[in-house]
Amino acid sequence: MQKMIIAIDGYAATGKSSLAKRLAKTLQFKYIDTGAMYRAITYFALQQEPKGSVHEKQLIAALDQIKLHFELTTSGQEVSLNGVNINKEIRQSDVTSEVSNVAKIPEVRAVLVAQQQAMGIEKGIIMDGRDIGTVVFPNAECKFFLTATPEVRAKRRHLEQMDQGIHESYEDVLDNIQTRDLIDSTRETAPLRKASDAIEIDVSDMTLEEVYQKIWSYILKKQSKTS
Ligand code: C5P
Repeated sequence: MQKMIIAIDGYAATGKSSLAKRLAKTLQFKYIDTGAMYRAITYFALQQEPKGSVHEKQLIAALDQIKLHFELTTSGQEVSLNGVNINKEIRQSDVTSEVSNVAKIPEVRAVLVAQQQAMGIEKGIIMDGRDIGTVVFPNAECKFFLTATPEVRAKRRHLEQMDQGIHESYEDVLDNIQTRDLIDSTRETAPLRKASDAIEIDVSDMTLEEVYQKIWSYILKKQSKTS
């Protein structure tokens, strides 16, 4: 398969990362979960004194001290922050509650977007996020934008979290998803938005397999046109 850039954007808990991981394995492409990068910065911010809340100015001043590292293992992407693995920590509810507030800070986005663009320089990469097709790789060969009702997404995320041993009520998960949707889609810098040339898929009534097949057939079509 010819090396290309595949951007998968969309709302929280639409299955982006499961789909991206499977595609990356099949295509032998690199996979980057950009949400994990915003979560890692949020975790860093919450660890700074006084702990437990985000201090914007302090965070901006400390951005050059943050070294993120990603490693792909058979169980997924491992994220480390300044040499310490924080894979579990970035999924905890304190990080999930604050991440959209950190992701709307333009200085934070500038640092992460530059890192994401550097990772894609050799192509052969699948990135999932909110602004990959609009800002990070506006020239990506394949762009997808996934949507679903908040209730479907909250149900899916609630089940996933229970599997991971994270105990949060369905109502709290739904509330967090709706709050993040609002902040992500109304922020000034790189709001969550479908790129005009992205394929939109409403996954509300589809299985993950059906979504995968739809994306896969589009990639094959695109590939045959460009080769
Ligand atoms: O993908 P995930 O739900 O883990 O992303 C967490 C948060 O990170 C999103 O709600 C959004 O605020 C932010 N994000 C972003 N841009 C991206 C990826 C994630 O603003 N490319």
